Amino acid sequence: MRAPLAGDMRRRRGAAYHVTLDDLGVSMTTIQRLNESSVDDFVASLHGIYEHSPWIAAQAASARPFASPTALKLALQATVSGAGADAQLALLRAHPELAGKAAIAGELTAESRGEQAGSGLDRCSPDDYARLHDLNRQYNARFGFPFILAVKGPTGQGLTRQAIIETFARRLDNARGDELREALRQVHRIAEIRLNALLGVTPSLGATVIDWCETLGAISDSDSDTGLTCAYMTAAHQRTAAQIADWMRGAGMTAHIDAVGNVVGRYAAAQAGAKTLMTGSHYDTVRNGGKYDGRLGILLPVALVAGLHARGERLPYDLEVIGFAEEEGVRYQSTFLGSSAVAGSFDLALLGALDADGVLLRDALAHAGHDPAAIPAIARDPSTLLGFVEVHIEQGPVLLERGLPLGVVSAIAGSSRYLVELTGVASHAGTTPMDMRRDAAAAAAEIVLLVERRCAMQPSLVGTVGRLEVPGGSVNVVPGACRLSLDIRAADDLTRLAAVDDILAEVSAICVRRGIGEKLYKLLEIDAVACAPGLMERLGGALERAGLPRFDLPSGAGHDAMRMAQLGDVAMLFVRCGNGGISHNPLETMTADDADIAGQVLLDFFRTVC
Ligand SMILES: [Zn+2]
Repeated sequence: MRAPLAGDMRRRRGAAYHVTLDDLGVSMTTIQRLNESSVDDFVASLHGIYEHSPWIAAQAASARPFASPTALKLALQATVSGAGADAQLALLRAHPELAGKAAIAGELTAESRGEQAGSGLDRCSPDDYARLHDLNRQYNARFGFPFILAVKGPTGQGLTRQAIIETFARRLDNARGDELREALRQVHRIAEIRLNALLGVTPSLGATVIDWCETLGAISDSDSDTGLTCAYMTAAHQRTAAQIADWMRGAGMTAHIDAVGNVVGRYAAAQAGAKTLMTGSHYDTVRNGGKYDGRLGILLPVALVAGLHARGERLPYDLEVIGFAEEEGVRYQSTFLGSSAVAGSFDLALLGALDADGVLLRDALAHAGHDPAAIPAIARDPSTLLGFVEVHIEQGPVLLERGLPLGVVSAIAGSSRYLVELTGVASHAGTTPMDMRRDAAAAAAEIVLLVERRCAMQPSLVGTVGRLEVPGGSVNVVPGACRLSLDIRAADDLTRLAAVDDILAEVSAICVRRGIGEKLYKLLEIDAVACAPGLMERLGGALERAGLPRFDLPSGAGHDAMRMAQLGDVAMLFVRCGNGGISHNPLETMTADDADIAGQVLLDFFRTVC
C-alpha cells in the first residue's frame, strides 16, 4: 500500500504534464514523417507493431495522412477489423505463447522478449512455469489460438506474474466469440504500447490519474484484500476527501470540504467576477467496487489544472472541480446526496435516515465535523454557472466493442422501478397435479421472460429483474409467494413509459390467467436527462481534433450530472473500460492512454467553452 498523503511527489508528477504536450509536438513530427514516407518505408517503420503481420501497416498506409498518433492507432485497428475472420485468426496465431516454447527456445521477436521479460515471465519459478504450461495447453485446445495479453498492462508499467496467471485462468472460461474479440483487443493494446515507444508518446497525464486512482483505491472501509469500499462518511471516506483536497491544492486550486462532504476545488479565472464552469463526479464507491468509477471524473480535471497552473494559463471562467461525497446510495440507501446538495434539492428529511448499524445520517455528519444545518447553503445560483461536464467510465461494453476510447453522452436514461408481490397457493409438490397449481414462481418466470422480450424491442430500452425470491420456499412445496423487482430504463421517457405500460398490463394478464394475486409497488421514477446539444457539439469537436470520430451514446446508468441538470446545461464524456466493460467490481479497468486522450479532449473543451 502506498503512503496516502504523498502530496509533494504527486504534485510534481501532475505539474509535469506540460512537458507531455511538448513531447506530443515532437511526436507529431514523427507522425508527419510517417505520413510523408513511401509505403515501403511506412511499413518498415511500423515493423514489429503487429507481430509478424506487415499487411496491416501496408493496408493502413492508404488512409494517410494521420492527424495524430491516436488516428494512426485507430486506422491500424480498423484494418484488422475489416480484414475478415481468417486474417484475424492468423494475426492471433502469429503471437507467441506467454512463457511458452518460443520463449524457452529464445525464438521471440525483440518486442515480445522485452515485454515478457518486463513482467518477470523469463524468471518463472518451476511451479509458475508448470502452471503457465498447463494454461497454455488448455487455452490452445479450447480456442485454437495462443493466449494473448498485453503484459505491460493498462498503465504500461507491467502486470505482475500473479496478475497474468489470474487473468489467464479467468479468460479460459470465456465463450469463444468473446475471447476472440478480447484477444484482438489485447493485440491492439500491445500495438498501442509499441507505437507509443516508437513515436515517443508518453501518456503521463493518464498515468498520473491512474496512479492517483490506485492511491485512493487503497483507502478502503474493508481490508484491502476484500476490495475497495468507500461508503459515505466512514473513516476511509473522510481520508479520501482529505487526499483529494490535498491534490487540488497541489494543482494550484483553492479547496474546501463542504457541509455534505463534497470536496470543492476552484481554479480562478484571470478576471474577478467571471462565471463558473463546473466539472466533477463522485468519490464514494459501491461495496467491493472499482477504482475509476467516479474518481476518474474528479482526478482528470485536477491533473489538467496542475498543467494549466504550471504554465500560468488561466481560463476565461472560474473552473470548479467537485468530488461529490455520495452517489451510490450504499450506506443510507439514498443516492446523489452530494450533487443534490449542490443542485439545491437535498431532502433534509434524509438527515433522519439510519444506516444498517442504526447511525443517523445527521450524527454521521456531525461525527465527521460537518454541520448539517449548513447543507441548504451549498446550493448554487444557476445564474452564475456556465454548465456542468462530467467525465466518467462508461461502465458498459459499447465503446470497448467499437474500439473507441471516448464517447459523447447524448442522454442519461430515466428509470422506473417496481416491486411485484405475487401470491399463489403453497401446496404439496408431490400431490398437486400440474394443471391444478397456482405457482407464484412459475408466474414470476413468465414475467422475467416478458421483461426480456419487451425491452429487447427498442435499442435504447433495457429491462431487468434483479431480485427474484420465493420467501420461505422449500424444495417440496409449490411456491405460494414470489417477490420480484422490475427496473426499466430508456434514454427517452416516452419509450420507457410505453414499455412500463405494456409490461404492467401483461403482468396482470399473466396473473389472471394463472389465478395469482398481484401487488405492485412503485419504488422510483426518474425522467431521462438530455445532455445540452451545445456542450455535446464542443465535446464532439474536441474529439475530432484529437483524431477520434465523434460517437454519441446514451448512459444507462444514473450519474451526478442528472442532479446537476437541475441547475442548467450538462454534458458527459464517457471513457472506455476494459475487461468486457465490467464496473462496480474490482476487475474494473482502464488504460493510461485512454485517460490521457480523455484529458486532451477535456482540456480542449475547457478552452473552447465560453
Ligand atoms: Zn459512478
